[in-house]
Amino acid sequence: MGKWIKDKVFNNADEFISWLDDNFGEFIDEHINDNHIHHTWAPNHSSNGSTLQLHRNMRNYHVNTNGWNDIAQNITIGKDGVIVTGRTIEVMPVSALSYNGTRDLHPFAYEMIGNFDKGNDKLEGYQLESAIKVSKYFYEKSKGIVFHRECLINGKQPKSCPGTGIEKDWFMDMVKDKNFGIDNVSESPEVKEEDIHREDIQSANYLQNGDKGIEVKNLQKRLIKAGYELPKFGVDEHFGDETESAVREMQKKNKITVDGLYGSESESKLSDELSKLVEEKVEEPKNSKTKSETIEKESRPLLEKGDKGKWVKEAQTLLVKNGYKLPKYGIDGDYGNETLSQVKKFQKDQGLKSDGLIGKNSWAKLLKPNPRKSKNPYDGKSVVAKVDVKFYDSPRWDNHSGICEAGQSFPHVLGKCKTGNGYHYVVMNSSKNKRYYITANSRYTYLK
Ligand SMILES: [Zn+2]
Repeated sequence: MGKWIKDKVFNNADEFISWLDDNFGEFIDEHINDNHIHHTWAPNHSSNGSTLQLHRNMRNYHVNTNGWNDIAQNITIGKDGVIVTGRTIEVMPVSALSYNGTRDLHPFAYEMIGNFDKGNDKLEGYQLESAIKVSKYFYEKSKGIVFHRECLINGKQPKSCPGTGIEKDWFMDMVKDKNFGIDNVSESPEVKEEDIHREDIQSANYLQNGDKGIEVKNLQKRLIKAGYELPKFGVDEHFGDETESAVREMQKKNKITVDGLYGSESESKLSDELSKLVEEKVEEPKNSKTKSETIEKESRPLLEKGDKGKWVKEAQTLLVKNGYKLPKYGIDGDYGNETLSQVKKFQKDQGLKSDGLIGKNSWAKLLKPNPRKSKNPYDGKSVVAKVDVKFYDSPRWDNHSGICEAGQSFPHVLGKCKTGNGYHYVVMNSSKNKRYYITANSRYTYLK
């Protein structure tokens, strides 16, 4: 295997891929599971500087402000299609929480410079070509192609990454196209609401029986990797009884609450198990390793409203990671009222004194929170149809999957979600193995 070189500049994807394949082709076969795709949001296309300069600025920010041991991504793809190497492919990138994998099996992540939210930059030309070609390389090695927004449980920030202007099917059609050429590229269609704003649907802070999708797929892969068996259904993206019993087994083994709900405590135990499995094959650069250790051990200061700086930023980052929202000011390193209200909420949820002072106990919980049991106001309720009503297997108003006749009901209600201009109840059938969507309009249905 070759040696990863940081800040190596390639003029285009062909040059990069041939270097990557020569040096890391076999490593990728064995140790890379997915290709994660992000946009930088800032810098965007109007930022000054070469791709290399912008990439170096990002590294400075990730290391000095975020306190990470290196830039988050494996490569950066510039507006000009130029590719610059970042963090070595041999260790995990910093991606969506709980999707970083292990040293032994982890994603390869790239950041495309630009803000591809609708109405801003456009992913096009040489940049699009490089992105598609890199993803194509991973796709042809049977790796998953994952948009950051697909990894977000609870719609944690940034929800739309890699941008609301990039529709996944549009992107994948090009990745799969054997004759892909940059000259005959169509416009990206609208990104569907439900592909971005999913927090309404998945209001629980954990995965549970009945859930399906990419988070479940990832959990199943991790369970199997850690030695928990899913003999009958394997990695099928459906959290059924088999997955639940594997989760319970894992919880039992780790002496935590055995409830079959996969929340943050389960997540951290499973991660511990996985990282113990991995031999320390790869050596990180020595100085960065000691740096991250120092950050873990360094005593964290007491924070209160009015404080500013990197520790506030760290606390805000952890709040957001734990599902708390800072919609207005974000992670700005400034402990103001917005942060205060979320800190108090977090403290209350964790059974701490809700005083907004971040001391030893709050830091400890921020780093390793107790799983939040979300109270579902719909617990024990069922949805009854007043007239014959269509129901759907995804939040949409066309292409229904069945009819709930007048007087009939769905016995389990998970919540309510916004669909277009209206609302759906998210419901389950009586055997709790499938999720459906049915109108929440009181003319047609009611709760009992
Ligand atoms: Zn992202």
